[in-house]
Formats: sequence, structure tokens, C-alpha cells
Amino acid sequence: MKVAVISNPRHTNGDLIEFMLLRAAHWFGEYEKADLMLVTGELTPWNTSAARSFLSEFFSSLKLRKLAMPVVWLTDRPRWVELPEPPAMVTGDAVELPPAELVERIRRSAGKLPDFSGPAFETVLAETGGDGSIRSRRVAMALPELPCITDFHVHTNLAYCSENMNIPQALEMARLTRLAGLCFSEHSGHLYLDIPDYWEGRCVWRNVGTPCGFRRLHRMEGYCEALASAPSGAWLNGFEIDVDAAGDIMLLEEDRPRARVLLGAVHFLDERRELERAKREFLFRTEALLKYGVQILAHPFRIFAWAGLPKPPELYRPVIELLKRYDVAAEINFHCNEPEAEFFDLCVRSGVKLSLGSDAHNLYEVGFLHPHLRFLDALGLSGRLDSILWQYSGK
Ligand SMILES: [Zn+2]
Ligand SMILES: [Zn+2]
Repeated sequence: MKVAVISNPRHTNGDLIEFMLLRAAHWFGEYEKADLMLVTGELTPWNTSAARSFLSEFFSSLKLRKLAMPVVWLTDRPRWVELPEPPAMVTGDAVELPPAELVERIRRSAGKLPDFSGPAFETVLAETGGDGSIRSRRVAMALPELPCITDFHVHTNLAYCSENMNIPQALEMARLTRLAGLCFSEHSGHLYLDIPDYWEGRCVWRNVGTPCGFRRLHRMEGYCEALASAPSGAWLNGFEIDVDAAGDIMLLEEDRPRARVLLGAVHFLDERRELERAKREFLFRTEALLKYGVQILAHPFRIFAWAGLPKPPELYRPVIELLKRYDVAAEINFHCNEPEAEFFDLCVRSGVKLSLGSDAHNLYEVGFLHPHLRFLDALGLSGRLDSILWQYSGK
């Protein structure tokens, strides 16, 4: 049985530790496939109160993503925080025991349970065997402090798909995560279109302002004002831009100079029934984005899975040729997506740079690049991050 243990989170108001707890739940539940997460020790310092709802984002995110891994709270239970009661017993490896006893066994095997606090936000992941053996290792929710690690794909409260994003707290999450940098890259389409027009893919640019076209909204100003009033720091402003079926880019010329980083993304395919036609459409839209001058191609083949089509490995080389021709980086992105190892391996072998993007729609995801770093490690690239990752050069 795989068990994650978090000890002494010691939350105080405004420290955002609830999002580090949420990150731990997603990492262990979705990626490590742990059977159980145990939270133990002090939830808050003994003399500090916490808002009654401080874990509301934690519980609503687990519900939204349908995370099956149980989270058991063995912490002190301050009366101002609502927590589910722990079960009397947990079962694993054909053994049934009280959860506190399981924590004690893991503590003995690990030597010590690290406090879940900055700068690393360390946890313990233990694997228990049927013979009573326990192997454990520490897992940090912050990242190693490396100058090459920037999250180039972070949404804001202006994204229609935002769960709880806001710019000042995203910057604080980046600091707690020890990111070297961050780029806000809002959907250009969300800044121009209303919700039904965007999600129905009514992005035919030349129809703006005509009776058959969509009504143009003016949310761009709100985005730019929010960024202008954000604290200064190691962050960049950008857009994630769409492209329409005619190859026109969804960014007004007057707005283009507002961004330092442009991500291009294919979020819509008209042709979903016939794979060969979908492939041609995808290549056409991708080349239009690259020709326009995006620096990063966001989640390169995700649209195929979203459109219910198989991913086409035969397009890996043609896309890499385009990325080389236009000098554009390929983004590793785990947001409702499984990046293709073969494609990214080929990118590196062909000299195409890689970009890391959390595609954060929830604060816990800002700088949550643990899946990305594990993916690169599996490709044997951990020692070469400096040379393979794309960096913003100021041009
Ligand atoms: Zn996207
Ligand atoms: Zn995005």
C-alpha cells in the first residue's frame, strides 16, 4: 500500500498552505497513485485561529476532479475548522489498523516526519509491504531552486475556466514553489468573446461586429490593468492565442505589443469525423500560429484526444520541422493531457527547445511542474535542463 503523510501543516491566515496541501493531494492521488493521504500533527499553531472555510478550496477541487484517494485528517481539530472524522481503521496489504498506528509505523521507518512548511513543503511517501516492511522517501511540494525553471503558462481570474485564480496569489504561489519565473498567458479569445461564443468556437475573426458574428467584449483592458497593478517581480505578461479555420490569429494588432510572450494553441478543430482531414486542418492551424510569431506551441497534440481522435504519431516529425523552421518551443503540459514521450524526445534530438507550462486554472497548480520534471527525468534529460528548456530572451 502506498501512503503519503503530511505532518504539521501549521496554517496561519494568508499563508496559502491550503494550496500546498491541495497540490500534495493531486500529486499523490493522480500521479503517484497513492492509496491514502494522512495529515497529522498541528493543523494550526496552538494560539492561532484559521478561517472556518480555509480548506473549502481543498475539498471543492478534490470533488471537481473526482479524486478517489481518501484524505484522512488526524490533526488537532480546532473548533473553527470543519474536518471530516477519520475512520477507525484503515486497510491495506490485508492488514487492518488504526490510522494513527499506521502513521507511527511510517514515522519509525522514516526516522522523522518533516514539518510541512517552507521552504520545501516536504512530505513522506511510504510503501508498506505485506511482510510489515516499509520503504519511505521524502517528496517536496516546492521545486528545486533552479534558474532555468519558469512556468510559462498560467491563467488568471479572467479565464472562463479559472477556478480561483488571482494574480497576487499566483505570484505568491510562484514564490513559495521557488520558481525562477512565471508568465501569465491568458486566452486571447476569453478577452474578446463572451462565454457561449468562445466555447462554441465562434471565432471567425472577420465576422466581428457584423450581424452574423460574435459580439466583441472589452475584457482586454481589465487583464492589462490587473497586470499593471501586480507587484513587480520575475514574471512576464503574455497571451495564449487561438487561430481560426482561415488561419487568422485571434489577437488584434493593437493588442499584440502588450505581450512579451505569445503561446499559440489549437483548441478547436472543425473536422472531427475524419482523421486525415483533421490532421490537415491541425497542421494548417499550427503553421499559421508559428508563422504569426508565437514563441511557444502550447500542448501540441492535445486537441486530438479532446476531439475524440487518436493522436497521430505520423505528425510528430512534420510538426518538429515546423517548430525548427519558425524557431518555436514545444510545451510540455499535463492539464487534462498526456504529453507524448516520443514527440518530446524527438524535439530534443532535433534541437527544438521545450517549455514547461502548468496551464494553471487553480492556485495549487501555479508552478506545479512535478509531472513535467518527472517526465523529463524519464527521458534522461534531468541533467540537461539548462540547455533544453526555452528561456525568454527579452526579444
Ligand atoms: Zn490551451
Ligand atoms: Zn491554457
